[in-house]
Amino acid sequence: MMFFIVDCRSYICFWPMETGFFWMQALWVWTAVVCVLMELVHSFGRVTGYMSSQESFWRTEDEKPPGEEADRKRQRHDCSYFKSYADIGVHEEMLSDTVRTNAYRYAIFKNYERLRGSVVADVGAGTGILSVFCVQAGAKKVYAIEASDIAGQTEAVVNENKMAERIDVIHNAVESVKFPEQLDVIVSEWMGYCLFYESMLPSVIHCRDRWLKQGGLMFPSTATLYIAPFYDAEYDNRLEFWSEIRSVYKLSMESMKSYAKQSIAKQVHVNTIPPEAIQAHAQKGEFRFECFGRTQVHGFCTWFDVGFPEGVTLTTSPYAEETHWSQTAFYVDEPFPVDQEVCISGSIHIRPHREASRFLDISITHQVNNGPKHTRKHLMNDCFV
Ligand code: SAH
Repeated sequence: MMFFIVDCRSYICFWPMETGFFWMQALWVWTAVVCVLMELVHSFGRVTGYMSSQESFWRTEDEKPPGEEADRKRQRHDCSYFKSYADIGVHEEMLSDTVRTNAYRYAIFKNYERLRGSVVADVGAGTGILSVFCVQAGAKKVYAIEASDIAGQTEAVVNENKMAERIDVIHNAVESVKFPEQLDVIVSEWMGYCLFYESMLPSVIHCRDRWLKQGGLMFPSTATLYIAPFYDAEYDNRLEFWSEIRSVYKLSMESMKSYAKQSIAKQVHVNTIPPEAIQAHAQKGEFRFECFGRTQVHGFCTWFDVGFPEGVTLTTSPYAEETHWSQTAFYVDEPFPVDQEVCISGSIHIRPHREASRFLDISITHQVNNGPKHTRKHLMNDCFV
């Protein structure tokens, strides 16, 4: 059975589900166009073939490798990415997010029987919190891999908790680490805004394919991206500002409104979207929404869930408790009215930006009933923590 699409340059490669597909090891991701994402077992030639580094991971077979200048740009880009993780603020934000951190804690503890005596890699250990949870759950050895300079603090936290004998902190990118043994478990908090922002997933997959034992566990092991149309109650007020210029300065600026709409649509907004703003049931494949009722649609928003072994789920849904990921809003150029059961169909494609792979190029196409198709491209590039 084949699915999956997205063009093959999209976020990752999407494969056919083969018989014998080993579900427990599967790491699934759905973009709205679909997706299966990753399969799991390490034997998938197509992936392993070109995923030995961030850059080559993304390149499709018909794309030439970038030249030296592009390589340098990519290194600078990665450098600023890792610098952002040496800052205390991002770790405060992640650890203040108790929904996030407790979901990992609960998932790790719930799987204590599988963790007991295991060898674990914590890919992107940060402050080391997930490594400590793994030892508390009974892991024999944890390799806490951290590329940014927060690694000094990982070490301090490990010592403070008297776990130096069980946790080895390795200050390096996981792609460069030679583990002394194969792994039973990989734990990683790799998710960014809109699931894929920061493009850390390939690093985790690289580690999985190279080092995880057959039958090993992934935390998380599944990921699902949802999309839904939304209404923004503030949108009209924001445009009205340009009409009010007349009463303040005695001149007209109506022509600014269409520019303001374009500017809003160009940016990707990481925002809390209240549940009542959602205008149709969210979907996870190529979308076909039936609207709840009469409203204005200002754009589409995304959120994600990840699943852990033993049925533990971490969700960033607007219907659930808030997390630091909020939701991600993509505005359309021209908001449009809908009525109950009006159909909005379309698709979303996500791929890393060619020159700066931590950023994303996102393209959303939509069509209202049988009307014209509209495509809006968004560059997601200024959401670094
Ligand atoms: N596990 C921690 C931090 C998660 S944030 C927690 O849950 O609080 C992701 C971390 O992964 C960041 O600290 C980042 O520097 C690190 N990271 C990202 N890509 C990496 C890579 N390829 N190799 C090693 N560390 C990486």
